[in-house]
Order: sequence, then C-alpha cells, then structure tokens
Amino acid sequence: MTAGEPAAAGSARASSTSTVEDALAVLPAPRTESPAGFEREWRWLLAAIGRTASIDLVCHISPDGDALGSALAAGIALRGLGHEVRVSFGDDPQVIPESLSFLPGQELIVPASAVPDAPELVICFDVASEGRLGLLHAKAFAAKALMVIDHHASNPGFGRHTIIDPSAPATAVLVDELLRRLRVPLDQAIATCLYTGIATDTGSFKYAATTPATHELAGRLLATGIRHDLISRQLWDTSSFGFLKVLAAALDRAVYEPQAVGGRGLVWTWVPYQDLVLFGVTIEEIEGLIDILRRPAEAEVALVLKQEPDGTLRGSCRSKGAVDVAAACAALGGGGHVYAAGFSLREPVPAAVARFRSALG
Ligand code: MN
Repeated sequence: MTAGEPAAAGSARASSTSTVEDALAVLPAPRTESPAGFEREWRWLLAAIGRTASIDLVCHISPDGDALGSALAAGIALRGLGHEVRVSFGDDPQVIPESLSFLPGQELIVPASAVPDAPELVICFDVASEGRLGLLHAKAFAAKALMVIDHHASNPGFGRHTIIDPSAPATAVLVDELLRRLRVPLDQAIATCLYTGIATDTGSFKYAATTPATHELAGRLLATGIRHDLISRQLWDTSSFGFLKVLAAALDRAVYEPQAVGGRGLVWTWVPYQDLVLFGVTIEEIEGLIDILRRPAEAEVALVLKQEPDGTLRGSCRSKGAVDVAAACAALGGGGHVYAAGFSLREPVPAAVARFRSALG
C-alpha cells in the first residue's frame, strides 16, 4: 500500500518510512525552484563516478517507490555508461513490494551479502539515517567513497559527501539532476523509475511539496512514452482481495469518539494479526489503512493499531494539523512528525488506546 508513518525513534517502528513522511519532510519550505547549489558535491560525485568502474547503489531498507525507483534509475543510467553496477538494500530477505514489481532494472539488484566488503564507490538514495542502511551499514562506511543523496529534512548528513536537499519533493528529482549532469538522456526504463519515485513521494502530485518544477519533470518523463496510467494503477489502485476483507473488518471495527482530543474527535481501529493470516495479507500491505481512517471530517486525529505476530501493537496516527501527534507518540516511546507519527506498545488494545488518548491530552 501507499503510506505508513515516520520513523519512530526508539521503537520497532524505527525502520519505517512513508510517502507522508516524505511529504512532510519538506515542509514548511516547499520547493519553488530547480535544485540549488551543491555544486562542489556534484562535481566530486561526477569525478568519483568517472574514475570508478564498479559502483554500488544503495537504497533504504523496506524500500518504497522513491528509494528503489531512484536507485534503479541511477543504476540503469550508469550501466549504460559502461559501469559495473549493483543495486542493493540491507534487508535479509530482500522483499520488493508487489506494487513495485513492474520497476525496470531489477536485474541489477543483488543481496546485501553480494556487495563488496570495501566497495569502491557507494551512492545512497533516500536513506534518511544510518540506521536505514540496515545490513549494508558497515559496507557503506567501509567504502573508499560514499555519497548520500536524499531529501529528508531529518537527515543528519551522515557520510562525508552529501547532497541532501529538503526542498526536493523526492530523491528521484535529485537523480534526474544527476542524469542531466551525466548527460544521460531519459529513456522509458529510467523514466518509469523516476516517475514512480516522484508519484510515490508526492502522493500522486497531491502533497504540498509538489511544485511547477515537479510537474515540469513529470512532463519530461511522460514525453518518453511511459504508461503512467498503468504505473498509477499499480501504485495506488491495486490490492489483493484479501486486503479488501482486512479493510472491511477494520472499518467495521472503527470507533468514533467525539469527546476525545479535547472535543476535536478521534477515530481509531485495529487489525488483529489473525485477520492478516486469515486473508493472506502482510502488515506492510495495510500501511495505507490509516489514509482511509483519517478521512472523516468529524475527527481531528485518526489511529490504526496493527497487531504483530508477537502481539505488539504498531500504532500509526495522523492529525489534521491542530494536534501534534508526534508529541503524543514520543510520550509512548515513538515519534514522527506533527501530522503523522507512530509508536509500538505491547499492551491489550483498550489499554493502548487509553494511553494514546491520554498522551494526546
Ligand atoms: Mn523519498
């Protein structure tokens, strides 16, 4: 599905990222211009690429459309320039979400174990923190040269060389810049990857980070003849039948509490692990459930609790802006952004909801 919540510091949620996080990462300064600056870093990167035969491209663990699309677009381009290219991410096993199974260039993907122990050049894409390198952390830092290309405002700037542009609505936008500097023309394979990255991180061009420049790039990508209609259907409008059944049960279980959150209203539901087993759905596939639960105009805050196999409840919440859910989640050991946050609790559902309610104040 489409979105989860921002990494929740200090909890099991720390490995998660989302389109919503990416959208929020660029607030409050939406991109209005083409990529600015970073000249020295771009020149360093082009020189490093120029002298390196074998290049490792790394995206974050549990990759989303922007992470994988960015790495694969760069991989296809660098392969075309004659480099030996590996694309990898630090999960074992590596799982490519079904919604991204159409991405071209996947023959470049190798397990983390196949990345050299001391790579010549590692370029990281959409990796907001060291932790999201997963199993590739040591190898990335053992690289002779390491470049971090990202757009998360929260990125602390790990690695000696960084191009971190929080005004970019997606890392894929920065990859477009890389390709222009490498003088690699857009083809349909590259455009499919970049379009997937941009569509993912802008919520299909809906989020505030979307600018005229975003649409201009989308226009150039569509001009290659890609089937953006099929990409969008795959990204946004495709699920298993099992997902519908899990969704139906979760919506049937939803509770509206008008008095909660100081009278602003709370809508919440939960998904028992047995539902996921019964309908053959993974916990990742229901990340987008919160986007449905947050729709009611009556409620300021929405909460979904997803039960993991060991009983831990993974909470995803959203506010419409009047309430800081990040603070509430931080009080529960999680974290995130004002509008979108998460936490993990090992408690029964009523106790977890009660703690969340009182954390909201
Ligand atoms: Mn991103």
